[in-house]
Amino acid sequence: MPAWIQRWRQQRTLRRRPIPEPSWQLTLARFPFLTRRSEGDLLELRNMATLFLAQKEFAGMRGLEVTDEMAVAIAAQACLPALKLGLDWLDGFVGVVVHEDAVVARREVEDEDGIVHAFDEELAGEAMQGGPVMLAWRDVDEAGESAAEGYNVVVHEFAHVIDMRGGLTAGLDDVDPQSRRGIWLGSLADEFERFARQVDRNRPTFLDPYAAESLEEFFAVAAEAFFVAPLDLARHQKRVYPLLRDAFRQDPAATWRPDATA
Ligand SMILES: [Zn+2]
Repeated sequence: MPAWIQRWRQQRTLRRRPIPEPSWQLTLARFPFLTRRSEGDLLELRNMATLFLAQKEFAGMRGLEVTDEMAVAIAAQACLPALKLGLDWLDGFVGVVVHEDAVVARREVEDEDGIVHAFDEELAGEAMQGGPVMLAWRDVDEAGESAAEGYNVVVHEFAHVIDMRGGLTAGLDDVDPQSRRGIWLGSLADEFERFARQVDRNRPTFLDPYAAESLEEFFAVAAEAFFVAPLDLARHQKRVYPLLRDAFRQDPAATWRPDATA
């Protein structure tokens, strides 16, 4: 579709189907970390969330009804990582599947001796290449409180969506992108190794130890803190913060406003 038609359609959606004011205000009140950015960014977030709602299909599982309020809460948080990259970065999927609570998935891993071990994994969310994004409403609902621990399931899954579409270095653009991307990835890998060693030694970490699973998980877990507790991330992972600032083209710690609702 030509860019001008796309822009025209988006303007029409923003005009005809904006997120209603009460619904937006309720979302901001319930998830105060959203409000701690500039007025301009908040307006941009609201517009992007409006377009997100027009493009995506929400489905509740096992009789769960996804209300408008729930959809707005998910859309606003999903758009945070894409805010300065553009909504195109979230176009790798259409469906958002919402469960009432965490989903138990049966996993199997094969060890070095070829023995298969089966175990259950509790999932609060999951993003698959080309597939729907799955979220547990209970975790989304608690995002206002869990922000203090740097936890946010929606940001986590949508960081994966961005990663799956364009790689971790999505936001980097430079005259010499190849070498800059290489340096960026090398730096993140170093921080991931350092973190994994801390977890191995049972040292306390600000980020969830789950981040030690893989480089992709490290990126997604750090992204959660980056958007909901950026000052803590900058303090506890001071070399990771600037990497995410470059990847997402945002600097939330620099503009973090006092909690207006506190
Ligand atoms: Zn993950």
